[in-house]
Amino acid sequence: MYLDVHDLALRKTRIRKSYAPGTLDFHSGEFRQAEPLEVRATAELVEGQIRIYGSLHTRVELVCARCLDAVVDEVSRDFDLFYRPMASVTREEEVHLDDEDTEVGFFEGDGLFLADVLAEQVNLALPMKVICSSDCRGLCPHCGANLNNEECRCESSGSDPRFAPLARVKQDWLKKQ
Ligand SMILES: [Zn+2]
Ligand SMILES: [Zn+2]
Repeated sequence: MYLDVHDLALRKTRIRKSYAPGTLDFHSGEFRQAEPLEVRATAELVEGQIRIYGSLHTRVELVCARCLDAVVDEVSRDFDLFYRPMASVTREEEVHLDDEDTEVGFFEGDGLFLADVLAEQVNLALPMKVICSSDCRGLCPHCGANLNNEECRCESSGSDPRFAPLARVKQDWLKKQ
């Protein structure tokens, strides 16, 4: 859905849409959409700026930072966004905006795609890191076993895992004799 300033100048647009997984490009390999994204919003033109306000809801699948298992997280976000035409920004302002006004968005040409706005909002709503549970035991740094579901043998064997590769070489050497 394209939000065109010329259309918005005539009337505000009410948006009620559902985006199936795979239809939005999040520009991220960190997560994938697990359920349709539902959005209810209103777009209007306010003093030459595109204003979009409303809410979105979906579920995404991320990877636990400790054990790398899939974690499904709910994303609900209210937003009230303003986008200025890129052409209205002077050189001087551009420099200034980089420093302080990161809240302000911009659009180029006649408008912007709702899909891009939503993808950005989902990215902003997600935490930097997720863990599947607060007591996730993670992976064994030596053998890579997921310590939530399996007993790792590194500790019980009592041998120092740092020497494991060396021991293996020794064994191979002994076998060859
Ligand atoms: Zn985990
Ligand atoms: Zn281990």
